Amino acid sequence: MEIKVASRPLLKRRGNVPCGGETLIKFSGKFLETRTDGKTIPGTLFLGLGSEKELTLDKIRQAMGKAATTIREAGGTKIAAPLLETKFPSDKGGKGGVSVSDIAQAMVEGVILALYQFNLYKTDPDLDKNEIKELTLLVTDRSKKASVLKGALHGQWIANAVNSARTLCNLPGNVLTPSRMEQEALRLRKEYPISVSVLERSDAEALGMGAYCGVARGTAEPPKFIILEYKGGKGKPIALIGKSVTFDSGGISLKPAENMEQMKYDMSGGAAVLGAMKVAAQMKLPLHIVGILPATDNMPGGKAMHPGDIVKTLSGKTVEVINTDAEGRLCLADAITYSLRYKPYAIIDLATLTGACVVALGQHAIALFGNNAKLIEAISLASEKTGEKVWPMPVWDEYYSQIKSDVADLKNTGGRPAGSITAALFLKQFVTDVPWVHLDIAGVAWNGDKPRPYTPKGSTGAGVRLLVQYLIDLAGK
Ligand SMILES: [Zn+2]
Repeated sequence: MEIKVASRPLLKRRGNVPCGGETLIKFSGKFLETRTDGKTIPGTLFLGLGSEKELTLDKIRQAMGKAATTIREAGGTKIAAPLLETKFPSDKGGKGGVSVSDIAQAMVEGVILALYQFNLYKTDPDLDKNEIKELTLLVTDRSKKASVLKGALHGQWIANAVNSARTLCNLPGNVLTPSRMEQEALRLRKEYPISVSVLERSDAEALGMGAYCGVARGTAEPPKFIILEYKGGKGKPIALIGKSVTFDSGGISLKPAENMEQMKYDMSGGAAVLGAMKVAAQMKLPLHIVGILPATDNMPGGKAMHPGDIVKTLSGKTVEVINTDAEGRLCLADAITYSLRYKPYAIIDLATLTGACVVALGQHAIALFGNNAKLIEAISLASEKTGEKVWPMPVWDEYYSQIKSDVADLKNTGGRPAGSITAALFLKQFVTDVPWVHLDIAGVAWNGDKPRPYTPKGSTGAGVRLLVQYLIDLAGK
């Protein structure tokens, strides 16, 4: 989609609608209300933003998403929208408040995110006929044009990265294998100053990644431990670790058949890391970032781990595998230990880790765990700005007895009570004293219900926008 910014004359407002001496159509302007009137003002869509007092950047994102899909359904191919300049009383907007650049970014994100469709495997040639090809943001004050353009470009980069992450998660397990994730990483290396190295099964075994390799034992599909490095700045890196289980059958502790097809999205964390690193490179952020994707299928093949097996992690700690479906934390444990060799400034991991997180927070919030108040605060600020909601959860040592094993150092499940907390506490055992945040995105990564304004059904591309905003704030841009 082409994004433009153009100047427009200030419209004089007479009556409720800025185009005549009287009210021409009935329109209350409540949030997400849309109305068209082909007779009086052809080609115009009225879009409700609700009360100005309650307006937030995310409401702008949602409203623009609603407008874009409404216009597409009506057969429109181009959109021109006035920059929604207004006050944001209920939006703290992170550092420095809300700028015109932020507004432009949110508008562009709303449109591109809402129009996403996954039609790769549909053969009907008419399906993609209705496409919005152009979005123009109209500004009345020419002096703001440059900031609006910058925001629009950032919005375009970020939304496109989210959509790419969605596609990776929507791709079926027979296509999106660990080898395909490796190819996606290598594609980034071609286009951006990002280096990529990959540990094969034998390399990971030789290093002593017994937990990750234990998970990979049950699949014939070659696992790929993928490491990306972006050196836009000097100093200690930020380590971004994404759970990358390309299909999670549960292993020998097999999942029930219902909804198992969705387990192709169990690499959402890895997809988010790829997306965020791409945008960081596009924005030339002056940061040093290491991305780690411990990619593998979790399958119940003949060599698969048995419940009760004991594996030795890269850290040296031993783990009794009570349930082979709690495989994410095994992969992440070795990835966290591996990241320590880069002496990271901070570690952020994203994972569709626990069903318990879905029970606790549903599909509207990411569970946020961590060991460092400053890092938790920074992620929370990024969350406010992006509308990717996070909710803080404890990782208190009181829960430790649940993951203590009789026969090894740890066991990989702590039972049903506080399941997402004991999973986080398990990861914490491998972090040492590095500032660390764990984001359980199990509830928000998949939209199985009816579409939301800028989130179609299927993968949501969760985490990309949150990570990018955190990185932007960190870089002070
Ligand atoms: Zn699992």
